[in-house]
Amino acid sequence: MSDFLELIKERNPGEPEFHQAAEEVVETVKPVLDKNPKYRKYKILERMLEPERLMSFRVTWVDDNNEIQVNRGYRVQMNGAIGPYKGGMRFHPSVYPGILKFLAFEQTFKNALTGLPLGGAKGGADFNPKGKSEGEVMRFCQSFYAELVKYIGHRVDVPAGDIGVSAREIGYMFGMHRKLTTEFTGVLTGKGVGWGGSLMRAEATGYGLIYFAENMLGTKNDSIEGKTCLVSGSGNVAQHAMEKILQLGGKPVSASDSSGYIYDEEGIDADKLAYIKDLKNHKRGRIREYVENYPSAIHTETKSTDEHNSLWDIKADCAFPCATQNEVNLKDAENIVKNGVKLVGEGANMPLMADAIEHIIDNGVLYSPGKASNAGGVATSGIEMMQNYLGSYWTAEEVDNRLKGIMKDIHNNCLLAAEEYGFDGNYMAGANIAGFIKVADAMIAQGVV
Ligand code: NAP
Repeated sequence: MSDFLELIKERNPGEPEFHQAAEEVVETVKPVLDKNPKYRKYKILERMLEPERLMSFRVTWVDDNNEIQVNRGYRVQMNGAIGPYKGGMRFHPSVYPGILKFLAFEQTFKNALTGLPLGGAKGGADFNPKGKSEGEVMRFCQSFYAELVKYIGHRVDVPAGDIGVSAREIGYMFGMHRKLTTEFTGVLTGKGVGWGGSLMRAEATGYGLIYFAENMLGTKNDSIEGKTCLVSGSGNVAQHAMEKILQLGGKPVSASDSSGYIYDEEGIDADKLAYIKDLKNHKRGRIREYVENYPSAIHTETKSTDEHNSLWDIKADCAFPCATQNEVNLKDAENIVKNGVKLVGEGANMPLMADAIEHIIDNGVLYSPGKASNAGGVATSGIEMMQNYLGSYWTAEEVDNRLKGIMKDIHNNCLLAAEEYGFDGNYMAGANIAGFIKVADAMIAQGVV
C-alpha cells in the first residue's frame, strides 16, 4: 500500500490535503481488497482517486472601483457511478485543485453512505467574499455561474453551498441560471424556501451531526443531555450544531472564526445563539464582537502556529469541530484526551489531522469522521432534489424525520461494516469500507469507463 500511496503523491504533486484523504481511505479499505480480489483486478482505488472530470475556468468581474478582477473557478466531478454528481461549492482564497479533490473524494464516500443515488463532486473559487460589497458578491456569483452552467444540470451535477457559499450566493447563482436557460429546475440545492428549496436544508448538517453523536452516545447508554460541548466555527454547520445541542439539553460553550475563538463558560443559550446568527449571517461581523455583548465570555485571538492556544484546550464532555480542514492537531488531540472529552464528532470536512485521529481513537474516545457525521447536509440536499423532481414539498417535520432516520442508518452501517472487517467500534474504518463497497460494486457493474 505504501508504493500505491507514493504513486498517488507523484501523480498529484503539491496536494497534501488530497494525499491525506487518500491515505486515510487506502489504509482502512486494505482488508476489503484482501478479501475481495476483484477490487484490485478492476483497479477500483486507482480509478476512484482520479477525477472523472476537472474543470478550471477564468472568472472575470468588475469591483466597486471599476477595477477588473480575475479569479479561478473549478468543478471537480469525482465519481458518478451511483448517481448525478453532487457536492458543494467553496469560495475561499485557499481554494485550489488539491483542496477540491480531497473534498470531492470524501464527498463520494459520504454520498454513498446516505443511501441516496448521489455521485461525488466539489467546486468553488479562490474568491474571498470577506469585505466585499453585496454588488461585488453578486457580480462574482453571476460571472462564476455563467461558466459553471455549462458543466452541470439537474440530472447531471447539482452543486450546493459550502464555506463562503450560503443562501445568498445560491440565490444569485440560481437567478443567473434562470436568466441563461429560462428553466426553473433543481440544478442547485440550498435554495430559499419559497423558490424550490427544502425546509430544514439550512439546519441539516449541524442537526445531523448531533443526531449522529446522540446515536454514538446511545451505544454507551448516554446522551447529549447535560453535556458541555465545544464547537468551532460560527457558520452554517456550527450554528445549527449549537441549536440542536441546546434542544437536546446540552450546553455549547464556544464558537470561532478565522480570527479567534470565544469561550462562554455560562453557556451559549438560545438568545446568544440568535445574536451569533445575526452577527455572522446578516451583519457579517467577527466573533470577537460577541464579548462586547456578553462580558461573561472571553475572546482569544488566533496566534501564529508556533504558539499553542486553541479552543480544544478547554475542558468539556464533547467536541464538535465545525470550521475547516486540519483545525485539530496532535497537541489539541492530546489536550482533548487529557480533559476527559468522551466524543469528538466532525462537522467540518477532515478537521482532524491524521495523527490527531489516531491519538483520539487509540485513547478510546468516540470519534466520527465528517464523511459520516456531516452527511446530513447532502442527504437533505438529496431530499430537496426529490421534492424538485416531484414538484411537491414536505413539511419540516417530514424532512427532519427522514434526516434522523438517515443519520441512524449511517451510524449503524458504519458500525456493521467496521465489525465485519475487524475494526470494531471504529466509525472511520466503517464509513470508508461501507462507502467504498457501494461505489466499487457500481463501478464494476458499469464496466471499464
Ligand atoms: P461557513 O458557513 O462559511 O462557515 C465556516 C466557518 O469556519 C466560519 O466561522 C469561518 O470563519 C470558519 N473558518 C473558515 N476557514 C477557517 C480557517 N482557515 N480557520 C479558522 N476558521 C475558519 O461554512 P460551513 O458551511 O459552516 O462549513 C464549515 C465546514 O463544514 C467546512 O469544512 C465544510 O466543508 C463542512 N460542511 C458543510 C456543509 C454544509 O451543508 N454547509 C455540509 C458538510 C460539510 P470566517 O468567518 O473567519 O471565515
